[in-house]
Amino acid sequence: MKRNKALKVRIYPNAKQIEQLNKTLGCSRAIYNMMLHERITVFEEYKDDRQKLYDYKYKEISVYRKEFEWLKEADSQALACSKVNLVNAFSNFYKSVRGERKGKVGFPKYKKKKKQNSYTSSCINNNMAVDFELKTVKLPKLGWIHFRDQRCSAEGKVKSVTVSRTATGKYFASFLFEREAPEVIKKVITDPQRVVGLDMSLSDFYVDNEGNNPGYSRNTRKHEMQLAKVQRRLSKKKKGSSNWYKAKRHVALVHEKIANSRVDFNRKLATSLTSEYDAVCIETLSLKGMSQTLNLGKSVFDLGFADFVSRLKQKAEETGKHVIQVDKWYPSSKLCSSCGHKNSALTLKDRTWTCPNCGAELSRDVNAGKNLHNVGCKMLGLG
Ligand SMILES: [Zn+2]
Repeated sequence: MKRNKALKVRIYPNAKQIEQLNKTLGCSRAIYNMMLHERITVFEEYKDDRQKLYDYKYKEISVYRKEFEWLKEADSQALACSKVNLVNAFSNFYKSVRGERKGKVGFPKYKKKKKQNSYTSSCINNNMAVDFELKTVKLPKLGWIHFRDQRCSAEGKVKSVTVSRTATGKYFASFLFEREAPEVIKKVITDPQRVVGLDMSLSDFYVDNEGNNPGYSRNTRKHEMQLAKVQRRLSKKKKGSSNWYKAKRHVALVHEKIANSRVDFNRKLATSLTSEYDAVCIETLSLKGMSQTLNLGKSVFDLGFADFVSRLKQKAEETGKHVIQVDKWYPSSKLCSSCGHKNSALTLKDRTWTCPNCGAELSRDVNAGKNLHNVGCKMLGLG
């Protein structure tokens, strides 16, 4: 069975390499926009004649390269990937229109010129490589670039690389390695103790069926204060002045720090949960609905639940563990975890309640975690 694994490292290009990197970033964006423009124009012209629209032959990249000499300076594989991206964007859009795809995908948009940008290039004729001994990576049209990372090996063959530039001017290379890996066999669970139920919570990230939480809030609060401070400073500067640019960079740096700490938190959490337990039960969260009904907008998304869930699933996939997602309509908060009585009168404000049926004292979050644990055990056939 073939498996892909990414290795993302920070690279330190020299001035000349930076110039070349920025050129490829610009050219990938330019060709994407030109091809999108062509498709829009053709559509406008032939929208009443489906056959003609289907038969239309769009310009190949080589034609563009002849027309616009400067495109030749860019890595040609990166331009090819831009085309693939555009074709995929259209295919996703059409699938969404036909209802063959979950979620709504809009019509492809032009890419804007931004500081933050990336391009992908595929590996042909050994045009890319990672040398862990010398801590250098080889990239098409760029040669060898120094990188910094503690990891010292990666299994498999390099398939592609995504080079990115952050808003703060840092460069990263993410290599995709393909390797032959044995099929992971899902673990058979016999002990309910090896199952954990997590009730996602806005204040603590989650509370499990034992009442533990991963202690997330302290970190975010610190960052929020930092962000407020630098944003306040920025607002006082004259737009376009050199101090304004400096302050803007500060804001970007704090944003970057927040994003990094979130990824780090989610990754560590996914690793520790999958090593500690054999199955993790969570609710299928409808984040959009949640933020609308609770009027919490931004903060829900900021907590990065979705990112956490996808990392958790991936980790479980690799280790043969289970992630059980319980239907979002399952009333995990309203059911009494000791007798199963449904308390329909429970409101969001009630942090604790007493079961009118069996008299159990219940804390809202722990109770929900216990219910999720129970449902998960049942789904796993653990009585
Ligand atoms: Zn009860």
